[in-house]
Order: sequence, then C-alpha cells, then structure tokens
Amino acid sequence: MFKALMLTQQDKATQVAFVDLDESALPPGDVRVKVEYSSLNYKDALAVTGRGAIVRSWPMVPGIDLAGVVESSSDPAWQAGDRVVVNGWGMGETHWGGLSQKASLKAGWLLRLPEGFTTRQAMAVATAGYTAALCVMALLKHGTRPQDGEVLVTGATGGVGSVAVALLAGLGFEVTASTGRPQEADYLQRMGAAHILDRGSLVAPGKPLQSERWAATVDTVGSQTLANALAQTKWNGAVAACGLAGGADLPSTVMPFILRGVTLYGINCVFQSNAVREQAWALLARHVKPDQLAEMTHEVALSDIVQASNDLLAGRIRGRTVVDVNR
Ligand code: NDP
Repeated sequence: MFKALMLTQQDKATQVAFVDLDESALPPGDVRVKVEYSSLNYKDALAVTGRGAIVRSWPMVPGIDLAGVVESSSDPAWQAGDRVVVNGWGMGETHWGGLSQKASLKAGWLLRLPEGFTTRQAMAVATAGYTAALCVMALLKHGTRPQDGEVLVTGATGGVGSVAVALLAGLGFEVTASTGRPQEADYLQRMGAAHILDRGSLVAPGKPLQSERWAATVDTVGSQTLANALAQTKWNGAVAACGLAGGADLPSTVMPFILRGVTLYGINCVFQSNAVREQAWALLARHVKPDQLAEMTHEVALSDIVQASNDLLAGRIRGRTVVDVNR
C-alpha cells in the first residue's frame, strides 16, 4: 500500500482526498518509481483547487514532477536503484503524477538524476526551475549577452522567477526583478538581482512603443505586463514568455516586432526532448548556487498541499515548494 493525493470531480467541483492505494491501482507503465520528493507548481495549485482546466482525466493523482528511485523496470534502460527525475509529459494532467509515494511511468519520460543534485534539490528546481532554464536558453540562443544591458524577470519572487533571477545573475547578466512584494527586495538581491522594480509600473496599460530598456525579458506574468515588457525591449531584443500569473491575454500591438525587431519566444516545458532537458539541468547545475537554491525553497508534507496551493495562488509563497511525500 502507498499514500497519494487523489483528485475526483463531483458536479464539476474538484474534491481532494488522501488515500491509501494498492499498487495494483497504479496506471500501466514500464517503470515503477518510489517517489521521494515532488514539488508544488502553479499548475498543481490550479489542479488541486479546481481552478483552470488542468486535469483532463479523472480520478487523478496530481503533481507535474517527481524525483525518486526506480523500484522495477520492464525497460532495459532502467534498473532498480536508479535515481531519476521526471516532469511534464502529462503527469498530473492525463497520467497519475508525483504527489504520491509511488508512480508508474513510461521509460522515455525518465531522466537520470542530474549530476550535482539530490532528489530533494532536483525538486527544489523541478518544473519551475527547469522552465526558467528553458527561457534563459531561448534568450542565449537568440544571442543575448550580458554586455547587451539589463534583463527583466517578472513575477520575480515566484518559483520560475526566483530561479530565473539566480540563473541570469549567475550567467553574468544585470538583472532587474519585477515584484509586487517590495518586502522581498533583500531576498531578490541575494538571488542576484541588481535592481528591484515595482510590478505596478508594468501592469498599467502603456504605449505600444516605450523607451528602450531591456535587452531581454523572462516573463511569467503575461497580460499587460508582457505587453509593456515587449514595448520596452531594445532593438533586436527578445522576450521569453512562459506564464500567465497575471492573465492569459496579451494586449499588445505589432509595433515592437515590426519597428524594433523584437522577438517573442513561447516556452512550453511539458513536451521537450530529453536532450533539451539535460541541457537545461546542466545550465542550472553550473550557474545556480546551492545556497541560493536552499534559500528559495521550503518544504511541506503531502497533507499540507491544499493549504499550500491556496497560499501559492494568493501570492503568499516565495520561491519554490518541495513536497516530502513520505511525511
Ligand atoms: P508562482 O505562483 O510561484 O509565481 C508567480 C509570481 O507571479 C508570483 O509570485 C508573483 O510574483 C507574480 N504574480 C502573481 N499574480 C500576479 C498578478 N496578478 N499580476 C502580476 N504578477 C503576479 O508560480 P510559478 O513561478 O510556478 O509559475 C509562474 C507562471 O509560469 C505560471 O503562470 C505558470 O503556469 C507558468 N509556468 C509555465 C510553464 C510552461 O511550460 N510554459 C512551466 C512552469 C510554469 P511577485 O509577487 O514577485 O510579483
């Protein structure tokens, strides 16, 4: 038997329960994993609280990422005892996910635990951190270099934002962290931010083209914030958009694209090749300091998930939330 968080739907409302399950209840898969840690991401919080159409098959064990140890595998690529990390591929959406003590997964979804990380540290990074790395990789591939000037990170005290700030600063960029939490300025500076910007200055509707300020942006907020970031991007600069914490709309114009050659990159972390994932983890291992990762992380138990989900969506959580599924 093992414990899991289970979501069911009744009259279109999401119900959450902690259940004891027999292993025979697990979905089909090539590899059986004993989960050590999962994490709480924005998407998980939406699923657990029943906001947003995240879960697409019921009942569902939520959790879009996990790290743990292989117990058994019918695929020769994996042996009992291998330490692995998995995120995306529909886990917690169409396939039972990581907020559970056991998981049954497709062999191709697993990644060997990246060098330099414990399973707990891997879940401190997890989906949010790896998405921050995908955003930064898009900007680096675009050609953005530290000498190009200030880079902006929006939603900076959030999970993606905190890792993006630390990673960009670790790469030598001058980072401006946009936040609605001025009381976290010291924290953001410890993550490597050179400047703090009140997010209020980015949420009001602005002109289609504004003074050129940012060489590049990692945007986790969307909506008017993304529109203003685009309008303030320097000639030939780039914006990597991954989030919608402020809204899913994009009230922009084509002006930044056609008059300043700005490029907007869309980032999706769910279906990336393992080669790209390995590059992202390697970048994080090289440029995010373990003490920064430790400071941006707090831990909760499986039984704390509902409260933590509400806190995350209300903007009361700073950085990353690791879930110890065995307590
Ligand atoms: P968090 O909740 O940890 O962080 C979001 C941050 O956004 C908050 O901490 C807050 O930062 C800011 N924020 C929240 N509400 C608003 C608002 N109304 N207006 C402006 N800013 C706001 O979430 P994550 O970091 O885990 O995820 C961030 C976004 O990225 C989410 O939308 C998530 O769905 C998306 N995401 C997308 C992925 C992809 O593959 N594309 C993968 C992972 C995440 P502050 O208080 O500092 O202003």
